[in-house]
Amino acid sequence: VAKALFIDRDDTINVDREFISSPDEIDLIPGAAEAMARARRAGYLLILVTNQSGVARGLLTEEMLERVHDELQRQLSACGAALDGLYYCPHLEGAPVAEYDVRCDCRKPLPGLVLRAAKEHSVDLARSWMIGDRPSDVEAGRAAGCRTAFVRTGRGPSGGIEADLMAGDLAEAIDAILRIEAAGSERGRLRGRDGV
Ligand SMILES: [Mg+2]
Ligand SMILES: [Zn+2]
Repeated sequence: VAKALFIDRDDTINVDREFISSPDEIDLIPGAAEAMARARRAGYLLILVTNQSGVARGLLTEEMLERVHDELQRQLSACGAALDGLYYCPHLEGAPVAEYDVRCDCRKPLPGLVLRAAKEHSVDLARSWMIGDRPSDVEAGRAAGCRTAFVRTGRGPSGGIEADLMAGDLAEAIDAILRIEAAGSERGRLRGRDGV
């Protein structure tokens, strides 16, 4: 059973451009990919979970979104941070594209994307984290049974966030997660040695 970082896309990994529809709009936040590579080397799967209601709004097609994600994956892979999974919600209730005008279970803050990804990649949610810049990311992670980290690279509120971890950006969040895990396994070793 694997552990994973479920990571939001816009304003967490890359700069938000309000409905990115073209690969040349992918602009990684400094340090994000390198930190994801560190998490990967520490044994975490890297799984993207993103709301992309631009599809339901008719601003881009799933084919365009796929090209954007190919470019994101290309840039992350070049840094040793290839995504193990990439999950998006294209839906929005009341949106103009009828096919996507549904009340789904995958638009964050609902946990559908995280739960589907966890099932498909045999992820132990209790050992995993959801990281994002919106309260909806924190809510989705908590509802799925993950620990949660909030990053301040977005336009989210400055207070009232009930995440397990608050960080300036993705790199800071990931490094804190890796320290927490290292401290936890150190405590485990000490307990083992003392026979408690
Ligand atoms: Mg975001
Ligand atoms: Zn959905």
